[in-house]
Amino acid sequence: MLSDSTIAAFKAALRGQLIAPGDPQYDEARKVYNGMIDRRPGLIARCADVADVQTAVNFAREQDLLVSIRGGGHNAIGLGVCDDGLVIDLSAMRYVHVDPKKKLILVGGGSLWGDVDHATHPFGLAVPAGIISTTGVGGLTLGGGIGHLTRQFGLSIDSLLAVHMVLADGRYVTASAKENPDLFWAIRGGGGNFGVVTSFLFKGRPVHTNYAGPMLWEMDDAPEVLRWYRRFIKKAPNELNGFFAFLTVPPGPPFPEHLHNKKMCGVVWCYTGPVKNGPKVFKPIRAFKAPALDMVGPIPHPAMQSMFDPLYPPGDQWYWKADFVHELSDEAIALHVEHGRQLPTWKSTMHMYPINGTAAKVKNKNTAWAYRDATWAAVIVGVDNDPAKKEALTNWAKDYWDALHPYSAPGAYVNFMMDEGEDRVKATYGKNYDRLTKVKKKYDRNNLFRFNQNIRPAK
Ligand SMILES: Cc1cc2nc3c(=O)[nH]c(=O)nc-3n(C[C@H](O)[C@H](O)[C@H](O)COP(=O)(O)OP(=O)(O)OC[C@H]3O[C@@H](n4cnc5c(N)ncnc54)[C@H](O)[C@@H]3O)c2cc1C
Repeated sequence: MLSDSTIAAFKAALRGQLIAPGDPQYDEARKVYNGMIDRRPGLIARCADVADVQTAVNFAREQDLLVSIRGGGHNAIGLGVCDDGLVIDLSAMRYVHVDPKKKLILVGGGSLWGDVDHATHPFGLAVPAGIISTTGVGGLTLGGGIGHLTRQFGLSIDSLLAVHMVLADGRYVTASAKENPDLFWAIRGGGGNFGVVTSFLFKGRPVHTNYAGPMLWEMDDAPEVLRWYRRFIKKAPNELNGFFAFLTVPPGPPFPEHLHNKKMCGVVWCYTGPVKNGPKVFKPIRAFKAPALDMVGPIPHPAMQSMFDPLYPPGDQWYWKADFVHELSDEAIALHVEHGRQLPTWKSTMHMYPINGTAAKVKNKNTAWAYRDATWAAVIVGVDNDPAKKEALTNWAKDYWDALHPYSAPGAYVNFMMDEGEDRVKATYGKNYDRLTKVKKKYDRNNLFRFNQNIRPAK
């Protein structure tokens, strides 16, 4: 229990807000994106600047409080908000500065990807992100970052040049190839284990208008589509990204009425080469099998990045299961189709994101992210806005994953994982795990930052 005077002194030292149970903003401030999460932190420090983050980290350490770091609040298991302890909330630290000449993008630690797309697009630049623009830059980048640009420009961390961060002892440091390179290695995939990142410096990539969008086929065609896709995506040009999905056609525009609520399979494509070449690049795809719905065409990058936002507003129930996948066998395809046919709600889906192409050019040992040799990061998500569906979403995702896990790698993409225990975290970091524990010991010996997919400090 903290005394009133201790809390008052902490509050006075902050330029941002300190929110406590009973305050009018408390319930809103403790909410995260996943409606299944309902945690009640002791205090929420909505930091205004780096000094506030230092104050909050020092306070948590001195008062021996559990700490969570909240970026965009999208984490699968709500790792942005803890029970009882202190939430270091970065949501007020949202800014993006673009240097168009040097193609450098400086992003505040609490920014969302939509902020980045909005600021960079007028300059013909983009940073590889995820596929929903309301996701936080912080959690997504520190876990790796997979999206429409992965095959052309690699993971988000492959465009990261430096971070500025507050360590467990309150020091403010830079991590880059030149400064604290061990820390820079570890934060590229190691999540929020090493400190609070107050800003990210990215290299901007030349992206403006893509030839992109979803292409859907009948569920009965799924085995044939998957067999074709597994070959195609391995040889596709790097400018062409395409993730496979089982989905239900949303019951509304712009989708044609005859397909509403229909379970289908598809690939969401994103070609970032010259738009005029788009039709030629897609000729063999369209020739393979005429799609039942073809929404691929020229689209500005920010529109592509936010295409799915309206389908997935905050507050839905989400249950996640994931794995990395090296090869997709015929047996695995049969199991995918069996479970894909049983999507429990229209928002539920299974995605297989390719991580080959440019992402695979970096060696596993060069960043903490240890699965560059896998072909896909697969994720099964049961999603609905009705809390009564929680069990159905969970059971479907677990059954699906149980069936496919024997055909998958031991680890999963850290940003798609639930609370799955230490062995699973070890499997996810593979040969990099030991080195990560040593870096953790150097920068966070007492594991202050442990409310995450935790890497324990070496003994
Ligand atoms: C709808 C949806 C779509 C998604 N799509 C993709 C996708 O296409 N590609 C992809 O790669 N991932 C995707 N994800 C997963 C996403 O990467 C993770 O959920 C990620 O944790 C979200 O980051 P956040 O900052 O919003 O999360 P938060 O819940 O705020 O934070 C998650 C954790 O990240 C760490 N963290 C966040 N910010 C900081 C910071 N500034 N400094 C230090 N640690 C920090 C902390 O450990 C924190 O507990 C998606 C998630 C959702 C819900």
